Amino acid sequence: MYRHNSEADTMIESSARRILKTLNGSWHTRAVFLLFAIVVAHWGEHVMQAYQVYVRHWSLPHAHGGIGLLFPWLVTSEWLHFGYVGGILAGLALLRPGFAGRSRAWWNAALAIQAWHVMEHTLLLGQAMLGHNLFGAPVPTSLVQLLIPRLELHLFYNAIGLIPMVMGLFYHLSPPVGERPASCRCAHSKVLWARASLKPTNT
Ligand SMILES: [Zn+2]
Repeated sequence: MYRHNSEADTMIESSARRILKTLNGSWHTRAVFLLFAIVVAHWGEHVMQAYQVYVRHWSLPHAHGGIGLLFPWLVTSEWLHFGYVGGILAGLALLRPGFAGRSRAWWNAALAIQAWHVMEHTLLLGQAMLGHNLFGAPVPTSLVQLLIPRLELHLFYNAIGLIPMVMGLFYHLSPPVGERPASCRCAHSKVLWARASLKPTNT
């Protein structure tokens, strides 16, 4: 029985290792592209929300961004916010091994910022689940939210998280001379990024 279990464990471990290797090898370009597409689209929703409040003067409870106008529960559910930030953190961590040298340093910064962002959303989710808000606030409130309102704070979190990702990608696509070659072919796929296409190149 014990032997059986350990064999199963070894099989799971080796397939997890294989998936991680593929994600950071032949799939890296596509996976990184997908992660960026999601992060940029999500940030666009935050920008749209700020536009609705500051330029259109909508009240905050009605300013739900673009897709949020069609599906308001996307914006109001703390579970979805938490799922999104947690998913991005997982994506950053899973695709990290493919980044080396200077690009790895920037990617680590993006990971650290996202980890803090997840911590803040964990606090928000906890309050929503318990039905008890911290600091006697009328709505779930995170730590930095004591200083900066939620709309501006999360616009900032998403922007400040995107900057090191872009820098990481920049050095990943154009590694400084002398850095060890990456395990993927992203640096050979600049045309692909330029065309925003998901087709791999053979150059
Ligand atoms: Zn890559």
